[in-house]
This record gives sequence, structure tokens and C-alpha cells, in this order.
Amino acid sequence: MHRLYETEDISVFWDSEKCRHAKRCVNGCPEAFDINRKPWINLGDAETAKIWKAVSNCPSGALTCVYNHEVRVVFEMQEHRSAAYYKDDRIGECDFEETPQGWNLYHTEVDPAFEGKGIAKRLVYCVLSEAERSKADISASCSYAAKILNQ
Ligand code: SF4
Repeated sequence: MHRLYETEDISVFWDSEKCRHAKRCVNGCPEAFDINRKPWINLGDAETAKIWKAVSNCPSGALTCVYNHEVRVVFEMQEHRSAAYYKDDRIGECDFEETPQGWNLYHTEVDPAFEGKGIAKRLVYCVLSEAERSKADISASCSYAAKILNQ
């Protein structure tokens, strides 16, 4: 299971396949990580620095995070994509198609001026989260999305 959680400042990725339930995140920032709550991750008003430290202490790599650099990522079902916006400009997208076999992620692209900020990963996680919530089978003919899916 892939999940993307965002605040204004940071994005947190969670890959359940890697989670060893060592609970370091829970101990490090109980406001954001609480296994007795659903959803168990809720960044809410937790301090950014505290979230960041708790994520950094995850021993398995299940949790990772990046700064948002004022870039918003939104899911746009009608356009079959997630899209990244900086101010009013669309600076990246991850496109998918609905097939009889499920959702296929076929294209991920970020404006070169914004590369190296984790935006492509946010875009792919955004689509994966929505696909999994929709209980769709997932495939990726986009090589970058396939890499994230099979990590
Ligand atoms: S610290 Fe990492 S491995 Fe441990 S429960 Fe949290 S996400 Fe899972």
C-alpha cells in the first residue's frame, strides 16, 4: 500500500510493504503517527521538524519525506492524472489510463527547472494512493512509476 500525506511544507510517503512496525515514528511524533487511529498517519498540526525527525528515524525506509518547495500536488480524476502546480503553472504530471485490467500509469514528467525536489515521486504516490483506495489493480508502463511501484 502506498500513501502520500502532505502539509503545506512537507510530503510524507508511506510504503506499507516495507513497514516493520518498529513504531519509532509513533514514539518520535505521536501527534502524527498513531496506530490506534484511522488513518494512522495524520500530519495535522504536528510540528514539521518533529515529523521530519520521526520519518528520518524509520529503520525500514517505509517512511520518507521531502520539502514541498511551494509546489502543490493534486489528483484530477477527470483528466486521469495527478498534477503539480507552482503558483498557477502546471509544472508536472503523472498520467494514467483506465483499462479492463485496472489503472496503468503511463507517463510521468516534471519541468526540468523543478527536478531533484521529489515532485515526480509525489505525483506517482498520489495516483497510487487513489488507485489503491479505488481498489483498482495497478500497472505501470512508465518506467519511473514502475520503479516506485516495485521498490
Ligand atoms: S518507524 Fe517505519 S517501520 Fe517503524 S512503524 Fe513507523 S513506518 Fe513502520
